[in-house]
Amino acid sequence: MPEGKIVKALSGFYYVLHNGALIQCRGRGVFRKNKITPLVGDEVVFQAENDLEGYILEVKKRKNELVRPPISNVDQAILVFSAVEPDFSTVLLDRFLVLVEFNHIKPLICITKMDLTNELQKQTISEYAKQYRDAGYEVLLTSSETEVGIERLSPHVENKISVFAGQSGVGKSSLLNVLRPGLELKTNDISSHLGRGKHTTRHVELIEIGNGLVADTPGFSSLEFTDIETEDLTFCFPELARMSENCKFRGCLHVSEPKCGVKAAVEAGEIPNYRYEHYLDFLQEIKDRKPRY
Ligand code: GDP
Ligand code: ZN
Repeated sequence: MPEGKIVKALSGFYYVLHNGALIQCRGRGVFRKNKITPLVGDEVVFQAENDLEGYILEVKKRKNELVRPPISNVDQAILVFSAVEPDFSTVLLDRFLVLVEFNHIKPLICITKMDLTNELQKQTISEYAKQYRDAGYEVLLTSSETEVGIERLSPHVENKISVFAGQSGVGKSSLLNVLRPGLELKTNDISSHLGRGKHTTRHVELIEIGNGLVADTPGFSSLEFTDIETEDLTFCFPELARMSENCKFRGCLHVSEPKCGVKAAVEAGEIPNYRYEHYLDFLQEIKDRKPRY
């Protein structure tokens, strides 16, 4: 039986990409019985009726599953931040990173609109980029205007499913437009799917960029830590997780426990203060279970 990947779901049809062609499929009772609703991103086994139509017989085991947008098997989240307009925010970046890490998705940090920065702002951004690289992240500095850094970004979308994430207005649509000339998304388009009111239809589609697939709807639009428990949080900060191996107590939350490896690393200047402070803020937020930003 042929296999393919669902790249679009609309009005009860699933569009399955198979050898470069789109097959319009319906679901068959088999997996309906198991209460599996096929998702965009799913690897499926289908039966072809003809060159254009078929039936989905089986949904393969998912690597992961996002709720907003509803999409499975996401390999990578490209976290888009603008250097300026709006200003780069480490607290917002750390919030996105926690959510992405918690979902076991690989983050790629992309700081764009670099063409709009002055010398001082460039220096500040480079310093942050270095700190996030030291933490273990890949950071790219780009501009959709001058196309600086785009040649380094494009290989990252090959052979994967990516979602872009980031505040509205940071430059996500603009990056997609330069990555795929001819796409001509209206700028701000990618954000227009973001939930405004309850009746917004949640339609998601994977756009082909080279050999990669990118969701046309931004991910992680809800920035709340709903499912995260206090003890999960350390593992959403890779450099804290590494240093926590030196904590004396198992389950140390690095607040006021003695002999804490994380606090020692912060005091030694090995972990930037703001990363640790955001960790503490998020920890408190999880304890309170209400957003503070
Ligand atoms: P989105 O909401 O994240 O999709 O952001 P858009 O791509 O729509 O960009 C928001 C605004 O910033 C638009 O007016 C873009 O033209 C502008 N913009 C986006 N990227 C860049 C960039 O790299 N340089 C400059 N100068 N402007 C940019
Ligand atoms: Zn500790």
